[in-house]
Amino acid sequence: MPLYEYRCGDCQEITSVLVRTASDDKQPSCEHCESANVQRLISKFSFRASWGNSLNWVPSHETTSDLDENSGASIDKYMGRIKKEMGGQTTPDFNRERRDIKNS
Ligand SMILES: [Zn+2]
Repeated sequence: MPLYEYRCGDCQEITSVLVRTASDDKQPSCEHCESANVQRLISKFSFRASWGNSLNWVPSHETTSDLDENSGASIDKYMGRIKKEMGGQTTPDFNRERRDIKNS
């Protein structure tokens, strides 16, 4: 199930929306101020769906624009950056995935 994130143009807050079906792709409203002025953010982890829920806490301003998803070293660098931004607080899943990617 894809999780989409929308940034509110009015209050700048992020609204996360779980999309159940492809036809359920309607524009949501901001869950903080109920504004309809929201823009969908790039799905950060579409390249590795198996990461799943453990990575939903990734900072919303992160992008994969400089990420080479076919390169384990590039992904490792990216995940290292996320870890740093989170103050070193990561889940066991995150650490395991990172190790697996690095070794793959
Ligand atoms: Zn808002």
